[in-house]
Formats: sequence, structure tokens, C-alpha cells
Amino acid sequence: MAEIPKTCKAAVLNRLKQPISIEEVKVPQELEPGAMLVRTDVASLCGSDIHMWDGTIMLPIEPFLPIIPGHEMMGTIVDPGTVSCDAVGQPLREGDRIVWSPATCGQCFWCRVTKQESLCPNRRNYNFASCRNYPYLLGGLSQYCYVYPTSGKIRIPDEVKSEWASAASCALRTVVHAFEKLGAVHDCDTVVVQGAGPVGLFAVAMASKAGASRIINIGAPQVRLEIARRWGANHVISVDKADARQRQDQVMTLTGGRGADIVIEASGAKTAFREGIDMVRRGGRYLVIGQTNMDEVSIAPSAIVGREMTVFGSLSAETTDYYKAMEFLRNNRDRFDFDAMVGSRYPLSKVNEAYEAMRTFSVIKPVILPYG
Ligand SMILES: [Zn+2]
Ligand SMILES: [Zn+2]
Repeated sequence: MAEIPKTCKAAVLNRLKQPISIEEVKVPQELEPGAMLVRTDVASLCGSDIHMWDGTIMLPIEPFLPIIPGHEMMGTIVDPGTVSCDAVGQPLREGDRIVWSPATCGQCFWCRVTKQESLCPNRRNYNFASCRNYPYLLGGLSQYCYVYPTSGKIRIPDEVKSEWASAASCALRTVVHAFEKLGAVHDCDTVVVQGAGPVGLFAVAMASKAGASRIINIGAPQVRLEIARRWGANHVISVDKADARQRQDQVMTLTGGRGADIVIEASGAKTAFREGIDMVRRGGRYLVIGQTNMDEVSIAPSAIVGREMTVFGSLSAETTDYYKAMEFLRNNRDRFDFDAMVGSRYPLSKVNEAYEAMRTFSVIKPVILPYG
């Protein structure tokens, strides 16, 4: 087995809204049964990391500081502990690459009765634990990461690049989970995707793969809308060039005045939910993924009743979605240019620059290389 150091370099958030520092953090020398230690070769930033940094995320993070941020990552197994196969039965050994889910309790109403592990109230998400306490390494922006015993571990297929797998470990698996909730996409469906960030772009790709007849992507900047076009969007609407009224008019014009069969909210923008409701056709479906902030907006619920609209909320993902996300990447790597999303790379020492790039939308998916 590879030698395990006593400490490693990790990004540490000591106070909200303050620069992240690089510190030596303890590496756990013992694993609980079922846990693993991985070397984090690649991590990436998610929009939620910004909300975690400034404290606007829907789960309070401040009581846990100091924490290691980052929840999008892949790892190479350095100590498999007692584990010999992944959550779908594929063998695992030292040197294999994996992604993994938050840890569920396996004993609550949602784990046992409704089988909705993403809703487990006892779920242990990464980041939400002090890096001063065992097992210390519970974030992606670190040279090593501890994988909880009940985290669903999924082997990364050889054909899937580590950067793609990292981006899939939050953004894509979230979209996979949301599409499971949405149900069938028919080949006569028009799909509007609000947002052209990683979640929005993956939603465009999945809607395209699912066979939607027409996909309209609303977002910015232009470079992202161009990726959306390459990934299957037939029409793009720039939020920089069209205001809310004009966006609504364009969707209505493109849908013959009916509205879209399916609208997917993947922007996280404060006004997106209210705007999206008015784009759903009578009897249509609205899938809400991006609203993880604490903003309040006013809506007229009669729009939901009057149009017999089905509104789905979708949170995070389950182990099965990680597996399906890996298969989606593997099976569609020639169809979609996944490298277009994972452009800029930053060593751990430049993590604050990566956050700034994410915050200002100058980079779609900043990639952090803890050994870079
Ligand atoms: Zn995320
Ligand atoms: Zn549970």
C-alpha cells in the first residue's frame, strides 16, 4: 500500500467571505470499516461552493468552520480499507479512480421506506465538518479525501477523464437525478433550459440525448451558449441581450404561442423561477434544480393550478445517479465535447483565483489540481 503521510495540503475556509488559506491538515491514519482514503487528483468548483463561501447556502455552514471546501471531486484510492467493490459490484482496489456520494444513514424513513437517499435527514454531506476533527479531510480542495463508510462509491470507467468525472460528481449527477424525476422526454417535446452554467449545459446534453424535438437554452455569456448549441440547443437566448419580457416573447414565438412542454430551471438566478413558470405550456412540466439559495420571490400559484402544471423539485442525487452519470460520460464522449466545459486549471495555491473566476462567470467550471 502507498505510504500515507501524516499531513497534507488543503484549502481551508476559516471565516465566511474571507480568502481561503492553504494549510497542512492531518491525514487520518485509521479508517472506519467501509471507509476509504483517496488521493484527490482533480476537484472542480460548483456554484454552491460560492454560496457556501459567502454563507448563503440553504444549509448553515458557519458552525462547522474551519472546513475544507469543495464537494465536486474524484479520487484515486490509496487505502481501500475493507472495501473490495463499488456500490454496483465492480471490483475496487488501490489505484482505481472513484467518485462517491454523501453518506446516508440507511435507517430512516427516507432511506428505508421511500428509498429517496438524497432526502435522508441524517445525510452527511462533505464540507459540513471541521477539518480539526477526525477524519479531517472531508472536502475536495485537498490532496487527500476521506470517503465515508456509507458513501456510495462508483468506479470511474477508463474512458472517462478525471476532469469530467469531477464535474459529474455534482453537476451532472444532479441533472441525472432531476431527469429521473422528470420522467420521459418525448420526441415531440420542446424543452427550455434556463441557465448555461455546468448544470444547464449538462441539462441541454441530456435533453438532446433523450430525444427532445427542440431545445431552447437561455443564459450567458455567449461562449456558453455556443457550447449549448454544439450540445443540442436549437435556439439560444442571451440574457445579456434580451430582458425578461423579450425572453418570454421569444419562447412563446418559438412554441407557436403554447409555451414549452418542459422547462428546466438550472440557473439559480433569483428571478428564474417566476420567469420559468410563465414559459410552461398548459399541462406542461417544470423541473427546478438551481434554486439552492435562500431568496424569496412572489408568484401567483393560480398559474400552477390554471395550467395544471407539474412542478418538480430535485435535490442532489443518489448513488445510482453517480453510476448513470459515469455511463452518460462514457457512452456520449464522442457526441458531446465535455472538454469544452472543463477549461481552466488552477493549482491549490491559486484556489482564490478559481473562486473569483467562478463568481464572475469568466470560467464555466474551474478545475483545481491539488498536486498541480
Ligand atoms: Zn455542487
Ligand atoms: Zn437516512
